[in-house]
Order: sequence, then structure tokens, then C-alpha cells
Amino acid sequence: MSAIATPRSPESADPPVPSPLRWVRRFRDGTADQRFLLGGKGANLAEMTRMGLPVPTGFTITTDACRAYLASGGLPEGLIDELRVVVAEMEQTTGLRFGDPDIPLLVSVRSGAAFSMPGMMDTVLNLGLTNTSRIGLAARTGDPWFAADAYRRLLELYASVVLEVDAQTLHRATGRVLTMHGVKDASGLDLIGLEDLIGVLEVTIADQCDRPFPDDPWQQLEEAVAAVFRSWNGRRARDYRRVEGIADDLGTAVNVQLMVFGNAGTDSGTGVAFTRDPATGRRRPVGDFLLNAQGEDVVAGVRNILPLDQLAVHFPDCAVELDRVMHALEVRYRDMCDVEFTVEHGVLYMLQTRVGKRTAMASLRMAVEMAEEGLITREEAMRRFRTDELERLLHPRFDRQASYEVLTRGLAASPGAACGRAVFDADEAQALAESGEQVLLVRTNTSPADFHGMVAAQGVLTSRGGLVSHAAVVARGLGKPAVCGAEELVVDRSGTFASVGSVRIRAGDLLSIDGTTGDVVLGEVPVLPPDMPPELERLLAWADATRRLAVIANADTATDAVTARDAGATGIGLCRTEHQFLGDRLPLVQAVILAETDQERLAALGALEQVQQADFEALLRVMDGLAVTVRLLDPPLHEFLPELDGLLVADARGELSPKDAKLLEAAFAWREVDPMLGIRGVRLGLLLPGVYEAQVRALLRAAAARQRAGGDPRVRIMIPLVIDANELSAALALVRRAAGDVEAELGEVVPFQVGAMVETPRAAFLAGQLAPLVDFLSFGTNDLTQMTFGFSRDDVEARLMPHYLEHGLLPADPFATLDEAGVGELVRLATAAAKEARPVIEVSVCGEHGGDPASIQLFERYGLDDVSCSPSRVLVARLAAAQAALGERDTDRDR
Ligand code: ADP
Ligand code: MG
Ligand code: MG
Repeated sequence: MSAIATPRSPESADPPVPSPLRWVRRFRDGTADQRFLLGGKGANLAEMTRMGLPVPTGFTITTDACRAYLASGGLPEGLIDELRVVVAEMEQTTGLRFGDPDIPLLVSVRSGAAFSMPGMMDTVLNLGLTNTSRIGLAARTGDPWFAADAYRRLLELYASVVLEVDAQTLHRATGRVLTMHGVKDASGLDLIGLEDLIGVLEVTIADQCDRPFPDDPWQQLEEAVAAVFRSWNGRRARDYRRVEGIADDLGTAVNVQLMVFGNAGTDSGTGVAFTRDPATGRRRPVGDFLLNAQGEDVVAGVRNILPLDQLAVHFPDCAVELDRVMHALEVRYRDMCDVEFTVEHGVLYMLQTRVGKRTAMASLRMAVEMAEEGLITREEAMRRFRTDELERLLHPRFDRQASYEVLTRGLAASPGAACGRAVFDADEAQALAESGEQVLLVRTNTSPADFHGMVAAQGVLTSRGGLVSHAAVVARGLGKPAVCGAEELVVDRSGTFASVGSVRIRAGDLLSIDGTTGDVVLGEVPVLPPDMPPELERLLAWADATRRLAVIANADTATDAVTARDAGATGIGLCRTEHQFLGDRLPLVQAVILAETDQERLAALGALEQVQQADFEALLRVMDGLAVTVRLLDPPLHEFLPELDGLLVADARGELSPKDAKLLEAAFAWREVDPMLGIRGVRLGLLLPGVYEAQVRALLRAAAARQRAGGDPRVRIMIPLVIDANELSAALALVRRAAGDVEAELGEVVPFQVGAMVETPRAAFLAGQLAPLVDFLSFGTNDLTQMTFGFSRDDVEARLMPHYLEHGLLPADPFATLDEAGVGELVRLATAAAKEARPVIEVSVCGEHGGDPASIQLFERYGLDDVSCSPSRVLVARLAAAQAALGERDTDRDR
């Protein structure tokens, strides 16, 4: 068989000539950065051509032409003339002729938009071949089978993608011939079989379209180009664009390229390769290839695929050249690329390249190693490894290779996967966990009373509540997986089972959740552990040297603090003391509430003080030398009292103990219409004398003990929910008085700093007046978001938010990502005012937003000093803070 003699872009060495063409660009005229005009595929073909790589010659019809077509419904004026010009040029370089019966020029017609997307028209191969010219092709190659196979492929592709012949009809027609000849796919047919198939395909086309397959290559080309343009507005493409936020008016380009034939015999083949391993990131090309095959045969996986390293065995010269090409591409794109290549009679051709997709692990390893190799800068490495990729590495996840059926889906409230026995009660969860069982706490929603159950459980599943419901927030704080608001789930009041439709989940059934996806599965799903590759440490060290924002953590206990410190937090920005009042300490708190005289209250507080002091000491020991910010008591008191309903029922039955009777009285007394806006935070501290003082005494005694033990405690006392400078002064007076008492009692000075939380819009507006009174301010962006929007978050997240997001009434969930226009504006103004009033003031954020990369971008811009987030988000925040400091910039990566 004689060579097909495909020229390999001989014109690539020529300097680009100014082109008078309006709708068309030759490959040699374009560059990689023209993806919006040429589409990703076209821009990269152009780039490879410019680099002198062996790309079969061709041209790109621009997205401009597509937009013109979509506007007018016809091919734009002048396009056909331009096609004639560039096709004539191709004829000249190849010595072939489009439509010639003896030496037909064949091309592929390939769609290619700026962003690769599903639903766009599939590639048509061998376009230009006709029933006449295939005889010429057979004669010229001396291979009638090859010519028939090329024509068969054209008919199939043209019928399905250009003429849109019903896939089933086509499949049935083809299937009949294959069965008749006893083969599984067309590559197994002999020449007679192929001729049969060609006949059937021609008849099917004529039948379905009321006209024969066009015997005119120009008609084929025009129809194919128009079909590509039309596919831009196909259903799947439109849906995809909506989901991915890709603009509808970009349009697609069309690439027309000289065919090369990997199916021209056993000295030919086709393959795909990556310049580095896209799974692990290892610096080693990987790929697959197939002998004597064309186009999609490799990905279709019907025949014996060979690994890339076998290329050297079959085509040693091509293997060396491909290596050279891949190296050149990495240098040019400064990233891992994937390529499609074809070998025709022992000669290598490059058909496509782009920056390749990769796993999170590979992304990290490649970014770090490329920086170390000097291929990219460290800054680029930090930008490239995305925070969502880091998150994926940090959590266990369902093993996608395993087979499992998703029972229902909720909100991905706290990432990570977990499996355990379903338990519907916190006490039971604790008891079972203590007996060595892994449990999942399943509830309609959770409250502070469920905290110990959440600690004991592997994960939490709720049927109500949004991304900042109690369950979600606490689970994230604990670093436990949670799926919340799984609305199909109904947890029975009996607390013995739950159901999803007709499926029952009984207490003790194995259940799995994936908090990264929201999937809930009945039964056990194998879970892959998180990956902590050594490259992460190197990258984060660069991030630490780059970022301006300090990253501190929200940690309530010494255990949390250890996690935070291990993750690299350089302080605690929020220690919530309410957890010190729950569990076995609840009676002590209730004694404080129930006290009838000041004396009784002080006695009760004394007992609380002692246990708190031990907590604080443990925390200060872990965080020795680093600032620990302790927030004085914040929640409304009723959270420490039993539910009113239960007491009322007991009362009605006459079963109320004397103590319960007092609790009932207190529950009534402290009942609030809207606790969120009621007596809580500093209001409670001022209204209930002794509570804040006791907390301060416990804290400072703990600090003094640490000092005496040779430690370096750095105590910061934070007043929550302030609204006014007078109010803050009054609270600070309580703090100072308690501090004075401790100093007098111990005869030593215990240094500490004071601060206030900015959680109300009023506090934000008055930040300039608050600042002179304190050493630091910290934005509690959760409450600030609630109060700025007037949203009660649990209510709104469960019902309103999905509706608002779906209908585009809000751009994003403001509880997950800081609302730049409203809440962000308050943070910006307050920060500026505070720093103007008191330049040395330290300004932090300690809401959930402190660990959210998009919000961190804003905090960087507002000039905050630090972000405090849950320990499980510290690594992400360190990277995000560095990215924020580097400024936003898109990389080449095709998402
Ligand atoms: P996709 O975007 O789906 O990868 P492509 O346009 O890359 O579509 O083409 C599909 C297949 O056809 C690929 O395997 C590609 O390498 C092959 N192909 C495209 N153009 C040519 C050509 N001119 N010669 C040989 N094979 C081609
Ligand atoms: Mg491709
Ligand atoms: Mg708050």
C-alpha cells in the first residue's frame, strides 16, 4: 500500500501573513490566547502549528461566524468564498483535491467552543469522500478495505450528527448487517461486509431524509458547518451552559482539518496521552493507543488498548518524537497537557492538545513540583491549586468505584463521608459510641442539647435546616460530616425509625452519608481516607510566607485547640464559653438561673467558676504563647432550661417535682418571643449580674496559674452582641472590676486584652466609637448577616433560600459566602472607621465566613488583620489568604 502522503503543516515555518479573511483563520494564523474567537480546540491547534509541531493542516471558522449564523439563520455572507480560498490552499499544500474522483482531499469537521461542553456536535471524519472518490482512494492507497471503511465511517457520522437520523433506526440498520456477517463491530467486517453496510446506510439515509447522502463535498461541508453552529443551541448544550454559568452568546467555532489515517494498516495507530499522570501528578507521561484505528476507537475501548510505553516498541521514532512534543507543550503551556495523536504509516501527527483535567491530588503535586522545577513560579503554584481541590483532599469520601444506590440527597452541610448505625437520640448515640459502635445521629434537626451525641457520632443527618442550621454549624466546627435538610427523610416521632418514601431506616441500620455531595445511602459505602501528601506542607509554607491575613481558629475546647494549632492556626479568635455550661454542668447553670438571692447566685456561680477555670487552663496550655479570645456568655438563657412544653405536660399530670416547678417558673420568666433578638450576649451579662464577672475571674485565674507554671498565656476577653459605646463601657467595667478582684486576691498582674464583637448593623455603624474602648474588634458575620438581612437563618435556609437561589433573587447563600453588597459593605465601613479611630486596633472576623475562600478575598480587600475559622478549615484559609494576597487571576485551566 502506498503512502497517503499527508503533509505535516509545511507552512508552519512561514511568518503569519496578515489575513484578509473575515470568518476563517488558518491554523498558522492563530494563537493559544484566542480561545474566544477560535474556540479552545482551534486556538490550541493554531498554537501547536506555530510551535512547529506536526499538525495536519487546516483552518478554523470563527465564533464570529457562528454568532452571525445564529442571528440570521444562514451561513454568513462571504463564508463560502473564504472556504473556497482556504480549501484551495490546502489542496495546494497537499497535492490532493476536494471532490476529486482520484485524489480526494478528506477533512474532519470538528466543533470547538471556548469552553469544552457536552452536547456540541460530534466530529465528522473523512468528509469529502463520495461514492465515486472512494474508488479513487482505494486505487491510490491500494487498500479497498480502508477506503470502504473510511466511507462507512463518514456515512455513519454524517447520518447521525449532521442529518440527525434517529439513533435507534441507525443502530438497528447497522446491527442487522453486523449480525448477518457474524461480527460485533464494523472493524471486524470484511470488504463484502463493508459494502453491505454502506448500502444499508445509504438506503437508511435516503429513507429517513427523503434525499440521498450528498455526493457533493461542498454540500457536505456546508451542511456540516451549519450543523455545528446549530448544535450550540441544542438542548444539552444550553442546559450545561446554564449550570456552568457559561454565556449563551459565545458561540462555537468549527475546525476543518486534513484527515490523517491511523487506520491505514498495522504501521498506523491512534492514541491519547497526558504529559504527566493526571491521577497522581507523577512526572511521567501516561496514555493509551490502539494499532490500526481511527478517531474515537481508543476511547470507545472496543479493541485491545496498549499503554503508552508500548509505543516505543511499535513505533520507536514516533515515541521519541511524541516525548519531544509533550515536553514542548509543557514548556509552552507551563502546565500538564493532554494530547490526541495519530500515527499514519509510521509518521506522527498531533490532532489536539489542551491543559488537562486532573484529580485534586495530581493538581497539588503538579503545582508544587512544577514550581520546584522552575516551570512556574511559586505564586502560580499557589494560585493553581484551588481551595475546593484542597477540601477534597482533606476529607474522607465515598469510594466512587464501589457500587451503591443513593437513597436520598440533602444539603452538603459539612464535608466528609461517614458510615454508622442510625441512632435517633443523642444519649443513645453517646451510649452506643461508648460501647464501641460507630453511629450516625439522625434527627429532624439538632439543638445544643444534642451536642454530646454529635461529638459521639461519626456524622449527622437531619431532615430540616440549612447550611447554617445548628447541625451544620456544629458539625463543621467538629469537623464531622453532615447532610442537612434532606427533605424526603421523615424522622418518626417515636424515635425508633425514619423513612424515605416507602424505605424504612430502623435504629441500628447501617447508614452512610457523604457531606461533600449530600448523598445518603442505606447500607455501608466503602470510604476512602483523606490524602495528606507531603507536597501540601511545602505549598502551605509558601502560602504562609505570602499572606497578609493571619489565620486563627474558632475553638471551644483544648481538643479543638490542638487540632487548630496542628493545622497552623496562630491563635484562637473565638472560644465560645456556652459549651462549658452544658452536659453535666447544666444543673450548675440552672442553679444560677434559679437563684432567688444574690447570695444564692454567687454560691452557684462559684461552683461554675471552678470547672471553667480548669477548661481555660487546658486551653491556654495548648495555645501557649498564642492569643486566645474568649467570648463571654452569648446565648439566651432559655437554652439552658428544659423545654417549656415538657414541663407543662408534667405539670398538667401533677408530676412536677419542686425543682421542676421552679424550672417551669424560670422557663416562663425567660421565655422570649424572638430569642435571637432578645436577652442574650452583652444584654444578658448586664442584666444578670455576676455571670460575666465569674467568667472573667475563672479565665484570669487560669492565666495566672499558667504564668506561675512558666507558661505564656495571652488572654483576650470578648464582649458579644454590643450595640453601643455606653453599653460596651458598662460591660468592660464589669470585666475590669472582676480582673481587679483577681489581681488583689492573687497579688499579681494578669495582662489581658479586651474586645467587642460587631454583630449588629448598629455596632458596625458605630465602630469608630467602639474602637477607642478596646484592643480588638471581631465581626461575628453569622449574626451580622442575620440582622442585616432580617433573616432568621434556620427558618430562611430551610425554606426561603433554595427558592431565592433557584430564581436568582440572591446571587449566593449569604450565610456561606459573605454578601458583598450589604454585609460586606458594613464590614468595610466599620473596619475603616475603627482603624481611623484607633490605628493599632486589631480587626478580625470569627463567623463561618472566616473559612470561606470567596469571603476571605473580601476580608483581604477590606484590610482586616485576621480571619478565625473552625479548625477543620484552617488549611483552606491559609491557602485562600495567600491567594487573596496574590490577587485574583484566572489560569489557563479549562474547567
Ligand atoms: P472531541 O472533542 O470529542 O475529542 P475531536 O474533534 O477531537 O472530538 O475528534 C474526535 C476524534 O477524531 C478524535 O479521536 C480525533 O483525534 C479524531 N480526529 C479529528 N480530526 C482528525 C483528523 N483530521 N484526522 C484524523 N483523526 C481526527
Ligand atoms: Mg478530541
Ligand atoms: Mg453571634
